[in-house]
Amino acid sequence: MRKPILAGNWKMYKTVSQSLSFVEHLQGLVDDLEGVDAVICAPFPSLYALKSQLEGSSIKLAAQNLHQAEEGAYTGEVSALMLQDVGAHYVIIGHSERRQYFGETDESVNQKVHAAFKHGLLPIICVGEDLSQREQGTTKQLVEEQVRAALSGVTADDVTRLVIAYEPIWAIGTGKTATAQDANEVCAHIRSVVGEMYGKEKADGVRIQYGGSVKPENIEELMAQPDIDGALVGGASLDPGSFAKLLQGA
Ligand code: PEP
Repeated sequence: MRKPILAGNWKMYKTVSQSLSFVEHLQGLVDDLEGVDAVICAPFPSLYALKSQLEGSSIKLAAQNLHQAEEGAYTGEVSALMLQDVGAHYVIIGHSERRQYFGETDESVNQKVHAAFKHGLLPIICVGEDLSQREQGTTKQLVEEQVRAALSGVTADDVTRLVIAYEPIWAIGTGKTATAQDANEVCAHIRSVVGEMYGKEKADGVRIQYGGSVKPENIEELMAQPDIDGALVGGASLDPGSFAKLLQGA
């Protein structure tokens, strides 16, 4: 019922020429993408070039961030309209690296979600706990607060178009993955929170990804879980061979 979505978050890696060569290589490795939505979250400078190269392909582009304002004197920032114009279909919002290093808050995440929808971009909203929160047993409570804040004011029609990525911070880039059961338990909790806000039918239509050291070796076990509808992948998405295997596994 929910189509899996596999998104590769390249973070601050790859020049334009490296991005183009990745896609050329990937296209030689995967031909059937019927069963999965494939998304590449590229750095801003690569988006426009990738848009032309992906013309006619089902692979979609995402940006890794946006500014919440329509336009204005915000040196160094990029708006939703600009991203939509260069070919972005999705945009990652509230990645833990943005929350940690760039001061993003639940409030700015919510503003960015609204800015994205206003210009036809679909948000991939990241939530997740750090190690001390996991150890204190506050994971579900924290994730629930993040989800409720991010979705504040989002309409019932829009909620099924966005994606929520559950990414435990302690599992990002560390090689440590949550067990498939633990990841599913939090994803199921997220779905129940969306259900409380919008009703079960809407919640059943929302795609929830897991992210945190996902690799070709663990993707199938994660995808077999009932509430995990895909993955947001950092490190293992940088190599076309590995990304192709992840797409096959999803
Ligand atoms: C991420 O960047 O969102 C991520 C999950 O990274 P990694 O797969 O490298 O842990």
